[in-house]
Amino acid sequence: MSELRELYQEMILDHGKAPRNFGTMENFDREAHGDNPLCGDRITVWLHMDGDTVQDISFEGQGCAISMASSSMMTEIVKGKSEEKVKAMFESFHHMIMGEEPGDGIDPDDMDRLMVLAGVKQFPMRVKCATLAWHTVNAALVGKETISTEDEGGMEQRKV
Ligand code: ZN
Repeated sequence: MSELRELYQEMILDHGKAPRNFGTMENFDREAHGDNPLCGDRITVWLHMDGDTVQDISFEGQGCAISMASSSMMTEIVKGKSEEKVKAMFESFHHMIMGEEPGDGIDPDDMDRLMVLAGVKQFPMRVKCATLAWHTVNAALVGKETISTEDEGGMEQRKV
């Protein structure tokens, strides 16, 4: 069990230290800013769409290792997916991180990768660090410019 935990920690640190798809985007169609004031995590997400498919995605920001790792993983998994699929993944990810049945919004391969973040459910303060990236990409897709994890209508208030 502790070996598994070490592996998870290593993956989180790796993404945190060398985030994928990090940097601004010149030619974007959608943009949103995400803020998690409780921890001080702030990110911006850019999307380049091809019809309703996320052709390219990038993010920039600063914050704790969990928020940066989660953002990095999110961009890897969202790239190439349809808008509808991303919204389904956002719902499933939230359920998973709250320790609930995630449903089938996330494909098994992607779920395997995201499972490294599932441990945060033991640390309620960290749940918002892990979900910030997903809040933000969802905001970009629905045309919201900014999202705060402390907003009403944030995920925690928005139970389905
Ligand atoms: Zn954080």
